[in-house]
Amino acid sequence: MRPVSVLESVSERKATRLAEFGVESVLDLVTTYPRRYIDRTRQADVSGLQVGDEAAVLASVQSARTRRARNGRAVVDVVVRDYTGRLAVVFFNQPWRAKQLEAGTEAIFFGKVGEYRGTRQMVNPVVDVVAGVTPGRRTLRILPVYPASAKAGLTSWEIGACVEEALRRAGEFVDPLPGEWRSSLDLWGRTEAFGAIHLPESLDVVAPARRRLVFDELFRLQLALVLRRRAFEVNARALHHDVSPREITGAVTDTLVARFVARLPYDLTRAQRQALAVIVADMAGPFPMHRLLQGDVGSGKTVVALAALLGAVQSGHQGALMVPTEVLAEQHFSAVRALLGDLEGPGGMAGGEVRVELLTSRVKGKARTAVLSGLASGDVGLVVGTHALLTEEVVFASLGAVVIDEQHRFGVEQRATLRSKGTDGDPDLLVMTATPIPRTAAMVIFGDLDLMTLDELPPGRIAVTTVWLPGEDHAGQGEAWQRVREEVEAGHRAFVVCPLVSDSVRVEAKSATEEFERLAATELAGLRVGLMHGQMAPAAREEVMDRFRSGDLQVLVATTVIEVGVDVPEATVMVVESADRFGIAQLHQLRGRVGRGSTASWCYLLGGEEGNERLAAVAASSDGFALAEADLRLRGEGTLLGARQKGQSDLRLASLSDPDDVVLLAEARRVAEAVVDGDPQLGAHPDLADEVRLLLSEDEGEYLFKS
Ligand code: ADP
Ligand code: MG
Repeated sequence: MRPVSVLESVSERKATRLAEFGVESVLDLVTTYPRRYIDRTRQADVSGLQVGDEAAVLASVQSARTRRARNGRAVVDVVVRDYTGRLAVVFFNQPWRAKQLEAGTEAIFFGKVGEYRGTRQMVNPVVDVVAGVTPGRRTLRILPVYPASAKAGLTSWEIGACVEEALRRAGEFVDPLPGEWRSSLDLWGRTEAFGAIHLPESLDVVAPARRRLVFDELFRLQLALVLRRRAFEVNARALHHDVSPREITGAVTDTLVARFVARLPYDLTRAQRQALAVIVADMAGPFPMHRLLQGDVGSGKTVVALAALLGAVQSGHQGALMVPTEVLAEQHFSAVRALLGDLEGPGGMAGGEVRVELLTSRVKGKARTAVLSGLASGDVGLVVGTHALLTEEVVFASLGAVVIDEQHRFGVEQRATLRSKGTDGDPDLLVMTATPIPRTAAMVIFGDLDLMTLDELPPGRIAVTTVWLPGEDHAGQGEAWQRVREEVEAGHRAFVVCPLVSDSVRVEAKSATEEFERLAATELAGLRVGLMHGQMAPAAREEVMDRFRSGDLQVLVATTVIEVGVDVPEATVMVVESADRFGIAQLHQLRGRVGRGSTASWCYLLGGEEGNERLAAVAASSDGFALAEADLRLRGEGTLLGARQKGQSDLRLASLSDPDDVVLLAEARRVAEAVVDGDPQLGAHPDLADEVRLLLSEDEGEYLFKS
């Protein structure tokens, strides 16, 4: 790829700054899109600003002064002016503005015009300093405003000038989209689109230009996903598992799966039965299963997963359940053993029993050797573990099925590694998410998997009443602690979730310990309170859990180690401290720890400011799918997609919460499938193949395009 340094407007110094900004190639540069435009013919004069207007004004700084607010934070008061008048601009908590906006600096201030003591002012506007202006750009009627970076020392103007040169020198862009699709989808040409989005003649052309470029982003990605999917099917060496839906309905009774289903203390829900029927059909079928199972917190994914793994075991293969953390692995391990009951046995498949083992980095020495040799010999039928399962020392006699819980924390490469451990064929793969994600995001993140949903909760659940008590003062939170006492008195139990303090388990443990001591001496004085955090040894944690389960402890103060897996039906209250530090999905997951029995339950969210939309959303809804949509709307897809697989970060323009883009996503999928159907290796579409390669790791690129 051509580096930005080939451009005349990019000096060495500027290249370094652009790199800090994540822009290294010319392609990176032309796909750095304006975040907004200023129509110079309609640009506001300072004198014409009305209170309530959202406006952009080009003005020069007359003065900038820093003062301290009463809370100690810096306030920078700036006065700006153009030839028509003066305007006050105030920055809270941005002390560096004083330096950026020295007297004489010209900049564009974009924000809402407010009023303070009768004077018009803008508070915390977006600022684009107009330094280093290329004279030519000032003649543009419509000014693109780029996401300038004050930290990297780059102004919107500098970026714009580089982009302009890049476009001029690039000339015609290759347009890899087959012409017939372009016209049937009514999409602009790519060259036109790049030109119009960066240097629009009028604001009317921005939308169609954007539409084309959004399509490109989504299409590339879907193409990669469809290719990945097809490659599995083409190169697959499927294992035919000996399992049928009749084992779930009870028509067959003597297999491991049938016995497992029969000995469950409850009936499977309709959704669970349907999901299992599909999974079992996949497993018995000619292609390896490649499926995503979504379901709300508490919908009962674990039994579905376990039944699938047992389907592999009864067919003479092994099953592996991979989870992202050690705590989770330990919890799943005990859950699995409890569910298996007397189906668990010492080794092999003798007598129709299955040996289950745990493998994490905490399993060491002799115990580890025993697990490893059991996996290699086939004695161990089921293994629950973490990333430890991916290491080279782990060899399976015959891995037949893999379930990955909370896959979004695992990458595609890791999935592939685990799959490659199948010696007799490609193991079946079932991926599950901890909390639901919107369908659109699933199409992007898991687009190479078949999607399936558990859309039903087991019967008898009573919705958890969620109460949000904003503010930090303890007085306003009395209701929560009162409820804890009442419930404990009634023989129930309570969770208290400590604030999320840092990424360090050690610091978090310390803070949880302090909070535990404080609560035991104040709000929860007189109750039997226990503590659990991630720094405790598994045995110690297990002991605390046992005491909590048995009722010996009435309240459990814990860090987010209780987020997943903990299942105590008697727990009827949860208090989440500093709830504003948690994301929607995490709060929903936490809340899923109560309301598992058949009595009324409560979840108290403490803290956060009035108007916090995330907390309001969690308090208002207990539907994980609805909350996932709200999360997407509030935070955008960035966080959802997270630090995951290569390629998905390439959604620069497309927004999964924009209904028009969602329509394009479906179109992109359709076109990608049609193109790959007609040309599985993209041999006739070399330009498309090149674009897809950009999204893939080298290895995968080679794999997908090998004939
Ligand atoms: P999740 O989908 O969040 O992983 P789990 O698999 O942990 O949910 O199940 C949540 C709880 O529901 C567990 O206590 C489990 O035993 C119970 N459960 C699962 N399936 C059913 C069912 N069909 N009927 C009643 N309870 C069920
Ligand atoms: Mg689960």
